[in-house]
Amino acid sequence: MQRDIFNEDHDAFREMVKEFIKRYVTPEKQRQWDEDGEVDRATMLAAGEHGIIGLSVPEEFGGAGMLMDYRFRSVVMEELIRAGAGSSLAGAAGIQDDLAIPYIAHFGTDAQKQKYLPGMATGEILGALAMTEPGAGSDLRAVMTTAKKVDGGYIVNGAKTFISSGKTADMIVTFVKTGEGNRPDAFSLIVIEKGMDGFDQSKTLHKMGFQGHDTAELSFTDVFVPEENLIGGAEGHGFVQLMKNLPLERLSIGVAGAAVGQAALEWTLDYTKSREAFGQPVADFQNTRFRLADMATTVDVMWAFIDRAMKLYEKGQLSPEEAAKVKFWCTEREWEILDQGVQLHGGYGYIMEYPIARAFLDARVHRIYGGTNEVMREIVARAVTGRK
Ligand SMILES: Cc1cc2nc3c(=O)[nH]c(=O)nc-3n(C[C@H](O)[C@H](O)[C@H](O)COP(=O)(O)OP(=O)(O)OC[C@H]3O[C@@H](n4cnc5c(N)ncnc54)[C@H](O)[C@@H]3O)c2cc1C
Repeated sequence: MQRDIFNEDHDAFREMVKEFIKRYVTPEKQRQWDEDGEVDRATMLAAGEHGIIGLSVPEEFGGAGMLMDYRFRSVVMEELIRAGAGSSLAGAAGIQDDLAIPYIAHFGTDAQKQKYLPGMATGEILGALAMTEPGAGSDLRAVMTTAKKVDGGYIVNGAKTFISSGKTADMIVTFVKTGEGNRPDAFSLIVIEKGMDGFDQSKTLHKMGFQGHDTAELSFTDVFVPEENLIGGAEGHGFVQLMKNLPLERLSIGVAGAAVGQAALEWTLDYTKSREAFGQPVADFQNTRFRLADMATTVDVMWAFIDRAMKLYEKGQLSPEEAAKVKFWCTEREWEILDQGVQLHGGYGYIMEYPIARAFLDARVHRIYGGTNEVMREIVARAVTGRK
């Protein structure tokens, strides 16, 4: 089904992204990222130069000023995922644009915007967002990392885990306790920078998928962080800031889910048309045709849902429960499509050189991170029933 949310600017941008991919996202590069467990900085800088990242940085700070127009980000994700870079550059770009930049662009002080945003637009400064801890994932108010006020700043102690871009990031927007108890105003967001004394970001995790993008454990031992790194300049707003930006993170995972579903359909179409069994293309068996029909219809419905969500987001009207619906529903459909796609590839669907196999492993985390799909259903259920 023809999508009608893109105008000629988005179309021109898509062509530019495709050109960028031809030049910088080659199969050799992707293999290297998988081997290294991260995307190299030169590619991130090229992405900055071509406006592939930094889309959400306001123009006055050198970005594209598209913080609220998610269609450009959708184009980036769709094309990178189609090119097989869903588990490398698409991930790294998403962390930069959807998880790190918005906290500075929306909530940062003028000095923080001046300090970080221009470099975040070019890729010279890479960001990450650290909320999860070994003992606190879904239940964010259980975090134990503390930032104690001292003269001129804070002393941070604690640990974070599962942090995407955690090794490569130059600045990490970190969720910490600045108060007592677990009321929302006990928490703040503070920027911890690469190289600060007592900050270790060297330990990466060995994952099932997303091989080309680093996921790290972070530890903080008496890290002195100057008070000007407190996001927004005042304590106690961290929880609310997270709640305000999490719908964007969830929208972005929904978009990734739909883009993977679309790519999986395309890979499966190509494969089943070229593979023969019993003297005919696999695509001609009635079972295959019906499965492909189901997949194609699901992809259309996902985009219709997401395109509506992107419009609401642009108007500042995407509610937390709507973003939660997008995240859990699209990633569940993505999973079904991938499973079907693997099945229609037969044994080759299980072999890693086929993009469908990689995408299958990568996609598993879409139902876990950004808030698990169980927690998403809780958010929706609360809104639907009016009961906690
Ligand atoms: C590859 C990867 C990248 C990640 N990137 C980041 C990142 O960049 N930054 C970051 O901060 N975090 C990141 N995470 C962490 C991710 O967001 C958490 O793993 C996720 O929120 C779940 O937390 P948990 O792992 O502690 O699971 P838990 O919270 O312990 O959950 C375990 C199980 O219990 C269920 N559960 C928990 N609470 C409820 C409830 N109220 N009702 C019903 N079921 C419930 C969960 O759904 C899950 O099935 C990443 C994780 C991975 C794997």
